Amino acid sequence: MIPVTTLAGKKVALFGLGGSGFATARALKLGGADVTAWDDNPDSVTKAAAEGIHTADLRTIDWSVQSLFVLSPGVPLTHPKPHWTVDLARAAGVDIVGDVELFVRERRAHAPDCPFIAITGTNGKSTTTALIAHILKSSGRDTQLGGNIGTAVLTLEPPKAGRFYVVECSSYQIDLAPTLNPSAGILLNLTPDHLDRHGTMQHYADVKERLVAGSDVAVIGVDDSYCEIIADRVERAGGKVIRISKRLTLADGIYAEGTKLIRAAGAAMNPIADLDGIQTLRGSHNAQNAAAAVAACLAVGVSEDEIRAGLASFPGLKHRMQPVGRRGNVVFVNDSKATNADAAAPALSSYDRIYWIAGGLPKAGGITSLTGFFPRIAKAYLIGEAAAEFAATLGEAVPYEISGTLERAVAHAAADAEKDESGPLAVMLSPACASFDQYKNFEVRGDAFVSHVAALDGITMLIGSATGDK
Ligand code: ADP
Repeated sequence: MIPVTTLAGKKVALFGLGGSGFATARALKLGGADVTAWDDNPDSVTKAAAEGIHTADLRTIDWSVQSLFVLSPGVPLTHPKPHWTVDLARAAGVDIVGDVELFVRERRAHAPDCPFIAITGTNGKSTTTALIAHILKSSGRDTQLGGNIGTAVLTLEPPKAGRFYVVECSSYQIDLAPTLNPSAGILLNLTPDHLDRHGTMQHYADVKERLVAGSDVAVIGVDDSYCEIIADRVERAGGKVIRISKRLTLADGIYAEGTKLIRAAGAAMNPIADLDGIQTLRGSHNAQNAAAAVAACLAVGVSEDEIRAGLASFPGLKHRMQPVGRRGNVVFVNDSKATNADAAAPALSSYDRIYWIAGGLPKAGGITSLTGFFPRIAKAYLIGEAAAEFAATLGEAVPYEISGTLERAVAHAAADAEKDESGPLAVMLSPACASFDQYKNFEVRGDAFVSHVAALDGITMLIGSATGDK
């Protein structure tokens, strides 16, 4: 836990007592702030009060004496409309921040030189964050991993010299962190997403830009036009920019040429790593993630050898194209996080011959956008409510069966793949659907896939525990 000492003795209002909000209230209290917390959910308020956190309806407090208002990133700051607490804070002229801002202030106060890598982008944030933390950890560095990836940033160990922080930031967290100043900031890519919460693409891009604009070194993926413009603008403003690309040959920066990552500086072009054979970093999207990780690690002083060793041993993230088991020439891949067709596309493009388990609760459009991948699919095993609809889309193009349940799908796909002698094969759960018709969430669905795989005869599991480590 990081005690928030920068607000000791000050009155602080806080709204949102979910996981990170709760941790923030405790960190504020531990640091000596006089915090008043509230939530629209009475159960959360009761739980906080039981822990000794002072609670009061924020409609009833004296806003004129509050030094700061801390808002959970899940609560609307701007779109579709500001939460009622935001209106009250603004009316009283009280600054509004989130937990990442409190962390940034603590770092500045106690260990301003400790390396801090912040990661954002539309896609690939968690993979890149986990990859960087893995490279740092496996090189023996004291590494703290948190933020949007799941561990609230204030629950990490306090900043001290020589300690490395790797923090995934959502746009909401950036919006609430006005003085965000990482040693290395990464903006991976920008495509329309979450516009319900940001209004326009331009506003969404502006928020994301702030993370790199405030960085000592800005690592920016220049494969889309928004990020290209941002890289130029940050550089023109005097920032140090390292461009990365998964498809362009850059004169300066780090780019992918097939599976090779090349570091270009002026006339010099040096191969820095080869992702060939690294199961957890397949596909050009992962080349983008890896290039960003390499750039950020170099920026904070990690050697090329240490980086290569970390890339090669990256265990991958749970539920995201995660190789979980192997039997003969068949690899079993858990991509349960792919809850719509777009998210399933990178996985389908990463293997040449796939026994594909798909289905669940269908999303609008189903799998019609995936027809380009159909030639790679040896057979599809359809589960859940989407089965009939997906079967109709596959039609004559792809052999399929309606398996109904995941257990049956795994058993049948494994048996069929075993008989196939045509080279490397994948049995892959990449459902292109939500899970809620059969599972509590995509994590539970992915864990179920892993346990069905683990139960197969002759399987070698590739992950530590039954369900793997995040
Ligand atoms: P995020 O944390 O931004 O949601 P993740 O790292 O959890 O991203 O990856 C989620 C899914 O997004 C992956 O399973 C993959 O399908 C896709 N993905 C990962 N990295 C990228 C990338 N750089 N560009 C596009 N899609 C990506």
